[in-house]
Amino acid sequence: MSQEQEFLSRLASAHSQALEGLQSIAVQLEAGASGDDESINASKLTQEFNVWKERYVGKKAPVASLKKELGLLDPASRRHAGAELNRVRDELLDRAQELGERLVSARLGTLQSSSRIDMTELALDSFRGHIHLITQTRDELEDVFIGMGYSIQEGPEVETDWYNFEALNIPPDHPARGMFDTFYLKESVRGTQDGDRPSSSSSNKLLLRTHTSPVQIHTMSEYKPPIYMVAPGKVYRRDTPDARHIPIFNQIEGLVVDKNITFADLAGTIESFTTKYFGQDIHSRLRPAFFPFTEPSAEFEITCAICSGSGCRTCSGTGWIELGGCGMVDPNVFEHVGIDPEVWSGFAFGFGIDRCAQMRHSLVDMRVLLANDVRFLEQF
Ligand SMILES: [Zn+2]
Repeated sequence: MSQEQEFLSRLASAHSQALEGLQSIAVQLEAGASGDDESINASKLTQEFNVWKERYVGKKAPVASLKKELGLLDPASRRHAGAELNRVRDELLDRAQELGERLVSARLGTLQSSSRIDMTELALDSFRGHIHLITQTRDELEDVFIGMGYSIQEGPEVETDWYNFEALNIPPDHPARGMFDTFYLKESVRGTQDGDRPSSSSSNKLLLRTHTSPVQIHTMSEYKPPIYMVAPGKVYRRDTPDARHIPIFNQIEGLVVDKNITFADLAGTIESFTTKYFGQDIHSRLRPAFFPFTEPSAEFEITCAICSGSGCRTCSGTGWIELGGCGMVDPNVFEHVGIDPEVWSGFAFGFGIDRCAQMRHSLVDMRVLLANDVRFLEQF
């Protein structure tokens, strides 16, 4: 059996087990409601339902662990397997939502018919929490890239200078360091653990990563190409919070390394992501820029979602909004991780997850994303 077939068969068996569990709860609920079995009560079924949720749609569910394993498939199979995984997950979530609602109304029905409850008594309102807007945005972005055949990678938020700068072609004293206002850690030097990494004390200085790009280095050090990955996560800059900047924000990094990858592949990937995430009316364009770790480099802009490209205050009348940076991986970066730039080529891109949420929901001030004001958060 091929790796993809094996993956799909495990997905199918997790899917059918999950459906069986759900079906059994639904059948019992039905029997209780029709009076066929009076021993069934909605509270007990709700407990059973919560156990089911934990097991099949929670963080440790088979579908969630299969998502992590997508990275082990070859890129061609990953696209199909990723799409299938998204479909199964969405179906389970929809069905769980529907059954959850039926259980809530069954429980309410039981409460109202019970004489022990004094319906005139005041009860405190309870709130139903949900996932924060940033996490929702991150999950949706991950899904778009999984559907395009990418795997999800993670890296540490505390990095060494080598991973954050030097391996990305930004040596000490390089003027590009001025682009990043970095938080360094006081207790600073981490021992080398990666074989031939340089051991000078400046390379091992600890800092809070200023971008998600070090995950490129970790991934290329760990896996052989072809590589198709995205890495979402928190990054830190010494910025004073204002309407457009917050000192802790979220980025998503993308990296592709394969044979014969060209700038046209990069542009096509950015456009395809843009229409998949923002919708068919939003397009992308690239403008020349400079980043030390890519050559050539570009900034990418998308149609301003607020004025649909006709020009407004948010886009300074241009109809375009800058979303992130991208470019072809600089051969120096490949050499730092032992990948032969004569054989392999690739592109990288990175953009703000918070900025995506801002664009999609027309948020004027980014600080609301950190404020934890329920009146704001409950809208999403
Ligand atoms: Zn505009």
